[in-house]
Order: sequence, then C-alpha cells, then structure tokens
Amino acid sequence: MNNPLFDALFAPHEGSARPFLVLPDDSPVTYGDFFDLSGRVANALFRLGLQPGDRLAVVAPKSPMSLALYAGAVRAGVVLLPLNIAYTAAELSYFLANSGAGAVVVEPSRAAELAPIAAETGARLLTLDAGGKGTMTEAVAAEGSAFAMVPRADDDLAALMYTSGTTGRSKGAMLTHANLLSNARVLAEAWRFTSDDVLLHALPVFHTHGLFVATNVALVAGASMILLPRFDVDDVLRWLPQATTMMGVPTYYTRLLADPRFDRSVTANMRLFTSGSAPLLAETHRRFEARTGHRILERYGMTETNMNTSNPYDGERRPGTVGPPLPGVVLRVVDPKTGDPLPAGETGMIEVRGPNVFKGYWQMPERTAAEFRPDGFFITGDLGFIDGDGYVTIVGRAKDLVISGGLNVYPKEIETVLDEMPGVAESAVIGVPHPDFGEAVVAVLARDGTTEPDIAAIERAAARRLAPFKRPKAWFVVDALPRNTMGKVQKNRLRDRFGDIFSAKAR
Ligand code: AMP
Repeated sequence: MNNPLFDALFAPHEGSARPFLVLPDDSPVTYGDFFDLSGRVANALFRLGLQPGDRLAVVAPKSPMSLALYAGAVRAGVVLLPLNIAYTAAELSYFLANSGAGAVVVEPSRAAELAPIAAETGARLLTLDAGGKGTMTEAVAAEGSAFAMVPRADDDLAALMYTSGTTGRSKGAMLTHANLLSNARVLAEAWRFTSDDVLLHALPVFHTHGLFVATNVALVAGASMILLPRFDVDDVLRWLPQATTMMGVPTYYTRLLADPRFDRSVTANMRLFTSGSAPLLAETHRRFEARTGHRILERYGMTETNMNTSNPYDGERRPGTVGPPLPGVVLRVVDPKTGDPLPAGETGMIEVRGPNVFKGYWQMPERTAAEFRPDGFFITGDLGFIDGDGYVTIVGRAKDLVISGGLNVYPKEIETVLDEMPGVAESAVIGVPHPDFGEAVVAVLARDGTTEPDIAAIERAAARRLAPFKRPKAWFVVDALPRNTMGKVQKNRLRDRFGDIFSAKAR
C-alpha cells in the first residue's frame, strides 16, 4: 500500500535536521519538524471527523501551518481545497456548498462573518492567522505526531482547485496524486533542483504556482524555501543574496526592475529565476538580463494542467515564448472549430495531454466532457502557435479574441505594437460590442509616467503597422491596468468599464 505524494514528498524527510523553511525572522523549520507537524495535522483532521476523500477548505494566510495543512491532508487522504483569502463571503459560500467541504480553516477576523455559511453548508469552522495561531493550531498541538498514512491510488484526488472563473461559475479542477507528483518530478529535473537549492518563495499558497510548482518542486528535491508572507520589494532584496532560485509572476520582476537597488550584486548567488501565470513581456526579459546577467526562464501552465511547457535550463531561453512542451506532455495547436491540427507557425487553440492533466471538473461531467477531445486532449482555452523549433508562443485567451467585422484580431499582436509607443508602460486590447462590426477593437494604454501618450501620434504610428481592421476604434489612457494577485490583466474588468461606449453612442 502506498500514498504517492506522501511517499515522494514527505516520507523521505522523516527525522531530517535539514532546513525546509526559513522564515522572515530567520528561524528555520527543519524537514523533520515539518514531517512531525504533518502527522499531528493528519491526526487532527481525523478527530475533526474528516474521512479519506473529504474536502478541507483553507482560506487562511500563508504560514508554515498553512503548508502543514497541505502535508497533513495528503497524509490523511483528505482533499485540500485552497482558496484565495480575498474571496467574499458570497463566493466562499458557493465554494463550500459546491465542494461539500467537511471543514474550513479561516482567518480569525473573518470567523464571525463566515460561521453562518459554514453552519449552513455543514463545514466545521476553524481559525488560523498569519502568525500561525488559531483553533486549528490548538487542535493540531493537542495531537501526537505518529500517524500511519492513508493509502491512496495514483488516480485519487489530492486537491480541488477552483479556477478564477472570470466568465460563468468557477469550476473545481480535480487534481490527482499522479498529476501533482509527475509534474513536480518533471519540473525539478528540468530546472535542475537539488537539496543545495534555496528557493525564495514570495507567491501565495492558494494558487497552483506557489503551492504546487514551488512547494512540490522544493519538497521533491529536498531544497529549502525562504517563506515570505507576500511579495514585497524590500523583503525580496533583503533575502535574495541567500537564495539560489526564485519563482515569480511577471509583475514581481517589473517591480524589482523599478528599484535601482536591484542589480548584479543582489543576484550574484542566484542560479535561476522562473516566470509564469501571466505573459512576461520580451522587453522585461531583456531589461532583466541587462541589469542582472540572468535570463528569466519562462514557463506556461494552468490550474487544470499543472505546467505544460518550459524554456530550457540549458539551451536558448527565447523572450516572448514559453518554450517547448515538458517531457511527457503532448501539446498541439488546432483549428478551434474543426479540431484539426494546424501547421507550425499558425495560431489556433492549444490542447494538451499527459500525466499532468487533471481528472475533470468537480461534479460537472458536461463541462468536463465539453473541454476534453475524445482522444484525451484538454482544450486549454489559450491561443498560440508552435514555431519550427517546437517553441510555443501564447497569443492570449480565446475568450479575449476580438472578432471585428468577422475577422479575428489577436490582442497580443496589437498590444506588442502599442507597448512600444512613447509614454506607454503597457497596453490591453479588448473587444467591445459594436453595432456595425459586431465587436470593435479598443485600446487601453497605461501611462509610464515619462510623457503623456499622444493618441493622435500613436494612432498614426499604429496605422503604419496594422491592417485597418486591427486598428483600435477607441482609445483610453489609465494609470495602471487592473491585475489580480497572480499578475494577470483582468480584461473582464476593462470590458465592464469600457464595454458600452459604442452601444451608448448608437443610442
Ligand atoms: P491559472 O489557472 O490561474 O494558473 O491560469 C492559467 C492561465 O494563465 C493560462 O491558461 C494562461 O492563459 C495564463 N498563463 C500562464 N502562464 C503563462 C505564460 N507564461 N504566458 C502567458 N500566459 C500564461
């Protein structure tokens, strides 16, 4: 009998005195201590009445204990359901009801607000604060560390992760032991992680990037993690000299570049910076290399699939691309309507198949069936192309594609042109309803603070490079584009804000 994730990620570290976590106050949590803590958590989960396969929702701040809840859940065969602490009570009510969670761990300041929801959905309510204190910790402290792990099969669920769901209802992606473990092993190997590595961890742990990409890779390699509560430039600059690797979203790197203290001396001990969860501008990649001498390694994945592609560790890391598929992952680009594979260089729907790809959406068999092809490929919803060397470029989400006058307009193509214009830090191109064209291309430019963007001049410059049907029909200038915590531009919010300009004009 075995438990794939426990056997590979936690069991090898029993009794080890090596540091697993280094905390901002410099105190280490050894691998052995963390292993013992996972046993206490597993005992506590059983005492709370959770059975193997039951769901444990966690809406608590990042701390060693929130990571131990993951380890303990794996050990007890319980399915972890990590949730963004920014969710409202109404959103959490949906997740708890939809998942049928048996217990939910919340930040103490939200306990009163969430107690009625937990009671209604039948979930036990426990608390855990940023310092690791709360009723969950008390329950854990009362337990012994000895716990015989609960056997699990490769195909058993380890986690349920709700997608951010900017359109329609959020769906629970069912991730199995085999999904998470195969990806952890592939990434640790691809990125050359060893027990000598120290990973600077500033990502949230309610998202696949911080929880599975970062933490599982560190665990499988036996590496240490400097566990920062959040991304803060001062903290990152302070800790980078002690780290060898960092995983980030693109905004982390642009914020570091905006600070003159970020230079070669701060990054001298580093061997690898990776980026993902949102597109890294080719320009950021180049500025980063000029400043530090490091070439950021960009990879591409999603909650449902774990990581799909990665630029190579050795070999060419191409700015603006997400690299070739990882070992074991089959990736193809197809015509979204027919499903027929497209030749190299042509843009279409990205589909993936492999041990990394999730089992389906929780209690949504129709949605699951609609998003898988009969031959097992998952339809990612991302548009992109593969070049002659096998490198993949993401062009954007299919739902962000603009169809103007019946012609496809890929926002990224326009954004790449606009990003270069004077006074523009970055841009977002959206489609909004238009009485004549169906949808019209609208450009939203974020100021870079040097000079006010001159729309007339930008329009003329864009007209020299873009066919008429691709040219924006309306322009807006803002201080910053709206982003979520993972650094993704929230185009749905831009569509909400600017969506009725043509329909309003038509009235
Ligand atoms: P999530 O499930 O929150 O991790 O979001 C997954 C989505 O993020 C993908 O489907 C892509 O649209 C986007 N994404 C992730 N990594 C990249 C990347 N390196 N470049 C562009 N988009 C990315």
